[in-house]
Amino acid sequence: MTAASEQPDALMEIIDLHVGIDGTSILKGIDLRILPGEIHAIMGRNGSGKTTAANVIMGHPDYEVEQGSVILNGDSLLDEDPWERARRGVFLSFQYPQAVPGLQVGNFLRKSVASIRGEEAAKGAQFRNELNEAMDTLDIPRSFLSRYVNDGFSGGEKKRFEILQMMLLQPKLAILDETDSGLDIDGIKTVASGVNQAVRGTDSGALIITHYSRILEHVKPDYIHVLIGGKIVASGGPDLATQLEENGYDWVEKAAAAKEAF
Ligand code: ADP
Ligand code: MG
Repeated sequence: MTAASEQPDALMEIIDLHVGIDGTSILKGIDLRILPGEIHAIMGRNGSGKTTAANVIMGHPDYEVEQGSVILNGDSLLDEDPWERARRGVFLSFQYPQAVPGLQVGNFLRKSVASIRGEEAAKGAQFRNELNEAMDTLDIPRSFLSRYVNDGFSGGEKKRFEILQMMLLQPKLAILDETDSGLDIDGIKTVASGVNQAVRGTDSGALIITHYSRILEHVKPDYIHVLIGGKIVASGGPDLATQLEENGYDWVEKAAAAKEAF
């Protein structure tokens, strides 16, 4: 067996990623490997670089990639524009979704599906069934389709709408940036069931950025990574979220520093 065949092919691989903004270094060497069907979570204090990582994977133009690579299904992403990344199957659920007055939810969803999955996927009974099924999973009423995108939506409605987009676009890699923040307990369960439905038993994967272990109880990630000061200082199984909740980030920071000292 060759060395290359010993490791299963990654869905997404981040290698030694260094990112800055306006001359300030934010990500200082991130490595991450997500296999098809896996759900990973990133936790970390405010300002640790979580949104930066999400935005860089999606191709946000404000960031400077200083070093490293981001690879999806064997192909480098960093030279591609955000639209091409979306077409290849990257989806980012925004921390702060923007309103688009004048654009109706139903039309927006149909156009998005047509441009990412092709015209055929956005037509006829099959699309309507998919749409209805996803809206039922997320407890979204049909009347939602004629409202304007994120215009006057409550916090919970915005987040459910992000997950509705994710379910219909069927991404290869779904990145959720604090989609659970501001949701009540039912909302968190609903969002979690959308994520599970989109990823479990498929060859897609998800990266969930969160502050809370509650959503992780419902999606049960395969791995949890702790990002502090632009570096992943600890990775582990679901237990890590519980330990973090009990002991805080100081604990993991000290443990990581002690490990480095050896
Ligand atoms: P998190 O999502 O973990 O809270 P962010 O990735 O949003 O963290 O931010 C990481 C760091 O980068 C913070 O110190 C933040 O102030 C800084 N930062 C983010 N965006 C910008 C920007 N547009 N200009 C300057 N600094 C920024
Ligand atoms: Mg953030």
